[in-house]
Amino acid sequence: MSRNIIIAGNWKMNKTSSEAAKLIKEIKEKLPTSENKFIVCPPFTALEKVCELSKESIIEVGAQNCHWEEKGAFTGEISPLMLKEIGVKYVIIGHSERRTYFGETDETVNKRLKAALNYGLTPILCVGESLETREAGNTKTLIKNQITQDLKDISKTDCEKLIIAYEPVWAIGTGKTATAEQAEEICLFIRETLSELYSKDCAEKTHVLYGGSMNEKNAKELLSMPNIDGGLIGGAALKADSITEILKISNNIAK
Ligand code: PEP
Repeated sequence: MSRNIIIAGNWKMNKTSSEAAKLIKEIKEKLPTSENKFIVCPPFTALEKVCELSKESIIEVGAQNCHWEEKGAFTGEISPLMLKEIGVKYVIIGHSERRTYFGETDETVNKRLKAALNYGLTPILCVGESLETREAGNTKTLIKNQITQDLKDISKTDCEKLIIAYEPVWAIGTGKTATAEQAEEICLFIRETLSELYSKDCAEKTHVLYGGSMNEKNAKELLSMPNIDGGLIGGAALKADSITEILKISNNIAK
């Protein structure tokens, strides 16, 4: 089963709307043609502008979170309907920064996933272990628990639509990348877990990305691994040269 590569940029809380417009214009100037998917996830305030500027290009747009209700008394939240209406297609859910700093739990991740899927958004679900968990030898137990709880009551058809990003917390924004072998081992384990929870066929269809200090220097090795279907990229996604280079690298990897 071959899965096309997905290169997704998480801009986190960076770029005002005008700065985002400038970055998208720079990216567009350097953008290679590609059969692979290329997604950018700017902050909420820049989404509409980036959607507008990305029309008629291969760039697709994602948000960095969404609430589980369509509307209501949830001050500070953004609903999946609001994202859908402005042309957003993807949404990152359960990023470790949200789990660590904003009290996101597997239960709220599960609710957000279901809502995003109901509104036709493709979730990019993030899972990953802390350094402590890795050093204690509990990585696989944690990943299995996260996946099982995050996907509770999500159907096989919906699971196949998901993008799952394996993001070891110790590798995010630290410059410490997991080795290609470490990343492959856990991406394969995620697939095996999906196979147990759903079916082999579902596991083969679902995209599993790696995220954690991926850049133009280590992308080739990571993306060449059989179970790594792409990258969720933070720091390097803020530089037009780096992110377009990673997309070029992905073009030369046969899957
Ligand atoms: C991320 O934020 O999802 C991420 C992987 O960041 P970085 O590439 O900067 O480690």
